[in-house]
Amino acid sequence: MLSQAIVFRSSDLPLEPMQIEVRPLLPDEVLVRVVATTLCGSDLHTLSGRRKVATPTILGHEILGQVVDFGKEHSQLDYFGDPLQVGDRVTWAIVAHCGECCYCQWDLPQKCEKSVKYGHETTAVHGALTGGLAEYVLLAPKTSIFKVESHIENSVASPANCATATVAGALQRTRHLRDWNVRNGSLKYTRSQLAAMGEEKPLAGSHILVLGGGMLGVTACAMAKWLGAEHVLCVEPLESRRTLVKEFGADQAVAPGELEDAVRSVRKQGFDIALELSGVTSAIEAALPCLRIGGEIVLVGAVFPVPELKVLPEQIVRRMIQIQGLHNYAPNDLALALQFLAEQPQAPLAKMVPYWFPLSETARAIQEAERTKVPRVGILFPY
Ligand SMILES: [Zn+2]
Ligand SMILES: [Zn+2]
Repeated sequence: MLSQAIVFRSSDLPLEPMQIEVRPLLPDEVLVRVVATTLCGSDLHTLSGRRKVATPTILGHEILGQVVDFGKEHSQLDYFGDPLQVGDRVTWAIVAHCGECCYCQWDLPQKCEKSVKYGHETTAVHGALTGGLAEYVLLAPKTSIFKVESHIENSVASPANCATATVAGALQRTRHLRDWNVRNGSLKYTRSQLAAMGEEKPLAGSHILVLGGGMLGVTACAMAKWLGAEHVLCVEPLESRRTLVKEFGADQAVAPGELEDAVRSVRKQGFDIALELSGVTSAIEAALPCLRIGGEIVLVGAVFPVPELKVLPEQIVRRMIQIQGLHNYAPNDLALALQFLAEQPQAPLAKMVPYWFPLSETARAIQEAERTKVPRVGILFPY
């Protein structure tokens, strides 16, 4: 069997349509047919040359798929231990991890030494088919697979395994959610724990600053409110995006120059949490003084080289600020992301992917994504 695929070699060369042989499954693998792939900001950075990756590669990691076949020894179970079947609509954690190396032992599965990272490997790895800009993806052994509930629309489900799960991962780094997980023993969520999280609102009473109003920022505003945040303030230079984040639950959206006044007028001590999703160094520098004593900032956006950050150590010490980084996410974060998406009204979220193209028009899809700056442009497969 052959799979259509779009191969990326360099930002100086056109994308190359290819037919790649789908090799027979190894015992613990799963073959998935791609239903939809949305183009993430990091794909666009790679395609334009702003971000360096090993090539040749099949890009696209926000993938929604459908199970086609299981390797002979695959458990045929999903993340929760429920049976998986051929035909199930699924998504999966962006990093397949071994569960045994030092990083897996340190509860950093996203940094596994033997990882397969979908949409980021060269075609020399794992039968070439690891990216979403292809008809088929071969899922590596131990990939955490999640069934996608039927009422979640394609355009809502497709960004789940990067954008939505990364936001969930950022919130999981905060004290509020860590404390909730410790109280509930949630190293690996059960379905009932996830439902409880939506009801118990672990972010209740918190004031949250969201830096950036793109796909991650919009998602962060909505997810923070879903988890009970009292006040969410988004900082974003583009007016169209400030309007959008308010539709998704932000209590306020301001331009960068208005940030400090806006924060002090809501709470003079400053905010509890800042989520940095823009990758803009000056945004981090502006946000640090807006945190309350004991506040925390999670840095997520700078996944490519950015200017140096100027920090006053005395301020970090005296104001007891916590600074953390998050890269990729753990399977638990995708579980939380899917719970969030399942509980949201679908129509507004679906609007975040306004344009869809077939795989053969991937180059046009990329142009539209760059030109329009909409949260996501997608590739839809005709099944
Ligand atoms: Zn991504
Ligand atoms: Zn590992």
